[in-house]
Amino acid sequence: MAQLMKPLANHGKLKFLVRGKWIDSESEEVQGAFNPAIGKVIAQVPFGLGEEVDRAVESAAEAFESWRDVPVTDRVKYLFRMRDTLERHFAELSIVITQNHGKTIKESEGEMRRTIENVDTAISVAYTLSKGNTLDQIAPEIDEMMIKEPLGVFSIVSPFNFPLMVPSWFIPYAIVLGDTVVVKPSEITPVPMQQAAKLIQEEVGFPPGVLNVVHGGRQVVERLIKHNEVKGVTFVGSTPVARSIYKLAGEYGKRAIVNGGAKNCIVVMPDAELNHAIPSVVSSFFGNTGQRCLAGANLLAVGDVHDELVNRFASAASRLKVGNGFDEGVEMGPVVSGKAKERILGHIEAGIGEGAKQVTDGRRVKVIDYPDGFYLGPTIFDDVSPEMKISKDEVFGPVASTLRSENLDEAIELINKGTNYGNMATIYTSSGRAAREFRRRVDAGNIGINIGVAAPAAYFPFGGKRDSFFGVLHAQVDTVDFFTDKKVIVSKW
Ligand code: NAD
Repeated sequence: MAQLMKPLANHGKLKFLVRGKWIDSESEEVQGAFNPAIGKVIAQVPFGLGEEVDRAVESAAEAFESWRDVPVTDRVKYLFRMRDTLERHFAELSIVITQNHGKTIKESEGEMRRTIENVDTAISVAYTLSKGNTLDQIAPEIDEMMIKEPLGVFSIVSPFNFPLMVPSWFIPYAIVLGDTVVVKPSEITPVPMQQAAKLIQEEVGFPPGVLNVVHGGRQVVERLIKHNEVKGVTFVGSTPVARSIYKLAGEYGKRAIVNGGAKNCIVVMPDAELNHAIPSVVSSFFGNTGQRCLAGANLLAVGDVHDELVNRFASAASRLKVGNGFDEGVEMGPVVSGKAKERILGHIEAGIGEGAKQVTDGRRVKVIDYPDGFYLGPTIFDDVSPEMKISKDEVFGPVASTLRSENLDEAIELINKGTNYGNMATIYTSSGRAAREFRRRVDAGNIGINIGVAAPAAYFPFGGKRDSFFGVLHAQVDTVDFFTDKKVIVSKW
């Protein structure tokens, strides 16, 4: 099979970035990180000890003392260099994403683009939105001024599915606004962040301690919230963990942006332009192998569009080429791990057990060249009812459930009441009135109109509603207010 790019060799035991140096962890608890396309370990991930996490936080706290005083015009220059580094190593970092996550190289390149877009936006907000304001002569001889100040150390905790893009929703903003960070990548896909941080540290030359990286799981994350020097946490991951993080942050009085899981509904109206909708729906459900918080999960067919929609959806999905994301022509990579595959298989079996009709069976897929890879093809269920667990629980894999609705009202009711998630909902229609109704009444943070993955560009906030989000301020541009505090000065001379 022709490979589009060559994967790198083994990455060895990952290190921690503390005070600008890469150091070995003394932890004996180590877990393998995989290349899911071939089912082989490509790195060893140490689960940091409490003292090691503390040292990273202290490193960030020390760096903050001088970083906060660096003029914003100079901090921005670091970000320009960071942007250059990411562009220069675009191909190399895309390869590492595919190697550790499994998504196709094209998808990794898309992730890199969104990562860089966040650096661009952080640069622009540093000049525009971080300004305060002044009211001259608010009273006789009295002026009043509000300034935005950085706060200190922030912990950045990420999920496995976008190992560089999700951290980029926060890191460049925190740093350019004068804060310092300790980043904890997913223990499943830590290699891209390790590689990116290495390049950034070498080429951008942040003062030691501005950017720190640690590895591990629950204990590391909890330490990163409880530590006295930590002012806040950004978390993106599954809802049960998100809820516990939000609770812990509240208990310890820390700021928190907490994005949780999803179960997104895609509505197709009878007047939808199916030639446009079908490829878009396929990519929504099966892009990134369904492991995307904005992926379609439930397909709501309204009225008589059902039969044609399901037939064409199933036929297009069945043609997707599943395989190693490095190989030419592959459109869908493996799922991220053996454990994830088992979990998704459990959902498929539960769907069958509940009486959902299987239209395509992803369990049958075979990728002959890579017998140890964690592959699953697209699975589509039809005749799913709102009571079935397969329509309620987050699967986070290449599984679609089709439900019927009589009309738009019923579809909206299903979205708002069927699950308690509210990350994204999409409508395919040629009616402006239906689209307007939909965007106004649907209780989700991101709405798509004839768009299968309504991902907000970096200059817009990235949030969600209900169990998909905990907090007030969202990711991306909204973090300007999260990473700064407001101070008011009243003066009389
Ligand atoms: P996860 O919740 O298992 O892990 C996320 C992070 O939390 C990891 O860094 C992990 O080490 C850490 N963690 C795991 N268990 C923990 C615990 N008990 N206490 C403290 N920290 C813990 O999520 P995942 O499987 O890596 O990612 C997939 C999930 O992320 C899906 O639910 C998906 O919908 C969600 N997600 C949401 C968004 C969004 O913006 N809403 C974006 C991407 C992914």
